Amino acid sequence: MKYISDYALSEYNTLGFRSVAQFFAEPQSPEEIEACIQWAKEKQLSVHVLGGGSNVLLAPQVNGLVLKPALNDISFELKGDDVLVTVGAGTDWHELVRWTVERGWSGIESMALIPGSVGAAPVQNIGAYGTELKDVFYRLTAFDTQQNSWVSFTKEACNFAYRDSRFKQEKGRFIIAEVVLKLSRTATVNVKYDALTGYFSGLGIDKPSLVQVFDGVCAVRRAKLPDPSELANAGSFFKNPVISADHYQQILEHWPTLVGYPEPDGRVKVAAGWLIDKCQWKGYRQGPVGVYEKQALVLVHYGDGTRDQLLALASDIKESIHSAFGIDLEIEPQLFPR
Ligand SMILES: Cc1cc2nc3c(=O)[nH]c(=O)nc-3n(C[C@H](O)[C@H](O)[C@H](O)COP(=O)(O)OP(=O)(O)OC[C@H]3O[C@@H](n4cnc5c(N)ncnc54)[C@H](O)[C@@H]3O)c2cc1C
Repeated sequence: MKYISDYALSEYNTLGFRSVAQFFAEPQSPEEIEACIQWAKEKQLSVHVLGGGSNVLLAPQVNGLVLKPALNDISFELKGDDVLVTVGAGTDWHELVRWTVERGWSGIESMALIPGSVGAAPVQNIGAYGTELKDVFYRLTAFDTQQNSWVSFTKEACNFAYRDSRFKQEKGRFIIAEVVLKLSRTATVNVKYDALTGYFSGLGIDKPSLVQVFDGVCAVRRAKLPDPSELANAGSFFKNPVISADHYQQILEHWPTLVGYPEPDGRVKVAAGWLIDKCQWKGYRQGPVGVYEKQALVLVHYGDGTRDQLLALASDIKESIHSAFGIDLEIEPQLFPR
């Protein structure tokens, strides 16, 4: 294993902040992950797991060992109409989606173009256009740094929820090495989300094929979200808040156009981007950081800024949403180190 000191993390950080890791390693196998943990333990260093850096707020200096899993194997097992796909944590998520669509396997096509690694996907139960990772999740294998042993997680053990999981709740404890997804070889593709159905009806397509859904998702996302290689960002900066039905009714009295999505527990999910937009933040710039002009949910970094400057802007936005709607927004990207 190669442990590199004073390693610049700019390449692994879609927000483009300058950040240096005290030590950096890319284990390529479960054995190498264990070796990294052992090495850090002997040197009394903390360990921080990084994927593609598309959902983290990096500090200028990260002390300890930054471990970036580089396990990239993909294998599969046919099971009747289904297929179990086993994927190494370092695999690029979007490339996995493309690979499955090319084989005619459905289940993750709506999550095309989500940046990042397969290993990070269960951490926040990634989701887009009505599908979440939990819908296709079968099993994962992770190293438990507290018990110093490998653990296999079923779906139930992962505590998946909206942009949440056990791996986020017990941050830093588990290093995910491999994820198994259950995809379908025969299911008809189901487009559930307004933005997508609108896109296809605009093209005169009634029942899009798997490949058309993949291409459509990519087209819709490209039109809506800034490409981090052109304008640094971490995607949605705030989670969509879930509020009580009473609270939703109260807001509707003043803001009748607020759309609410009912949750199974009777509460209502509302769009954070809509709230931020209504408070006039869209396109606002505060020095090197700002709010994306086409989508208020995305905060952007124009260059030479720091995460503290971005967090200061986020805090101002949170305050204004609280005073206008009585809603407390929660930041989605993770502080790194925690
Ligand atoms: C333009 C853009 C669009 C986006 N759109 C979406 C979207 O539609 N839906 C969505 O859900 N997200 C979206 N995101 C957020 C992001 O892409 C996902 O959260 C993605 O899963 C992060 O992957 P990553 O490899 O970059 O993780 P990182 O940012 O590197 O890490 C995220 C967290 O996961 C932990 N982690 C990473 N790898 C592992 C591992 N192997 N084991 C244990 N912990 C690990 C890290 O410690 C950190 O806490 C978007 C981001 C961008 C920039």
